[in-house]
Amino acid sequence: MGETRVALTPNVVPLLLNDGHEVLVEAGAGVRAHCVDARYAEAGVRIVGDAAALYAQADAIFRVQPPDSRVAEMMREGTICMGLLAPIAHADVMEILAQRQITSYALELIPRISRAQGMDALTSMATVAGYKAVVLAADRLGKMFPLMMTAAGTVAPAKVLVLGVGVAGLQAIATAKRLGARVTAFDPRAAVREQVQSLGASFLEMELGEDVEMSSGYAREQSDVFLRREQATIGEHLPEVDVVICAAQVFGKRAPVLITAEMVGQMRPGAVVVDLAAEQGGNCELTRSGYETDHGGVTIIAADNLPSLVPTDASQLYARNVVNLFRYLYPRDGNAPGSTDEIVQAAWVTRDGEIVNAAVRAALQQGATA
Ligand code: NAD
Repeated sequence: MGETRVALTPNVVPLLLNDGHEVLVEAGAGVRAHCVDARYAEAGVRIVGDAAALYAQADAIFRVQPPDSRVAEMMREGTICMGLLAPIAHADVMEILAQRQITSYALELIPRISRAQGMDALTSMATVAGYKAVVLAADRLGKMFPLMMTAAGTVAPAKVLVLGVGVAGLQAIATAKRLGARVTAFDPRAAVREQVQSLGASFLEMELGEDVEMSSGYAREQSDVFLRREQATIGEHLPEVDVVICAAQVFGKRAPVLITAEMVGQMRPGAVVVDLAAEQGGNCELTRSGYETDHGGVTIIAADNLPSLVPTDASQLYARNVVNLFRYLYPRDGNAPGSTDEIVQAAWVTRDGEIVNAAVRAALQQGATA
């Protein structure tokens, strides 16, 4: 899906100006997020005609998506570059950044710790995605979400099942509840049951025999036996469900398959599955990243880059995250965190001509070996 977000919105410009920076924006960069050049100019931004002219002047560059090699070559040596850099998938570009002495930070690598919350773009974007997944499903479902009692009869509420109750899943539950659906959710971390219930949803009980939560708060990868039991319980409920929102992931791994093709075959025609984990391989076996699939009347939507469908708010949240990170790393009082700081360590990809992220180095090594 084409990117519509912009990395800097006019409302956060004063923070940078007050710190003594000059702010430049490429002409038209914010148009698709409804931030027109005039709004930037009013906020005190200098509009620069095109990307090449911008990169020729900038000391720090804020981006949403990773640069390609052509853009990386455009950056001046010594520039700072911040964005959702997907550094492992773009390890070759990270190598160019290193060669060009560019200091780069990947926002998706910021740890989910309290003091980094304001910079945590993955959380902001998952919040937007969880909301939009439900809105998308409501739009595609041939049924209404709320209970309606009319003179022509009673319309039953839609039944929504949310699988994976992290950031996106919680927001999906809250959104589906606001629209009046009857919501059930499941997550194998025991602590989640209470959160689900506090949102007014039911927790799908299952006997899985273990809590998979690690001390980091993330779920660990589950065994095949565990997943088969989970699939069996989910399968019992699917024939009754109108919408499934898939938002289950295990950090750094392929997304767990929770709905097989056979299970989709048992769903009602007209039902909708929105798979947020599409880019990690999908929670539904039939998900094909970038595509919508029809299987016996059930629509499976591989939801890639949903924040781009909500560009105004997604850009504002993202811009706040990126500016918070920048001001943390380069504060006005010069009291910058040291190189051993947890946030710096996690987000750093390139510095002093080197790739400092071990996983990116390994990806390059693998590519070279292959
Ligand atoms: P998160 O890590 O906060 O939550 C994932 C949840 O899945 C965790 O609570 C975990 O316990 C749970 N889980 C793990 N194994 C499970 C299993 N077997 N069954 C049920 N739940 C299980 O992640 P998030 O930020 O909420 O993101 C969720 C998914 O949405 C990810 O795949 C992420 O990449 C994706 N996402 C997609 C978009 C988009 O536009 N498509 C945007 C943001 C996030």
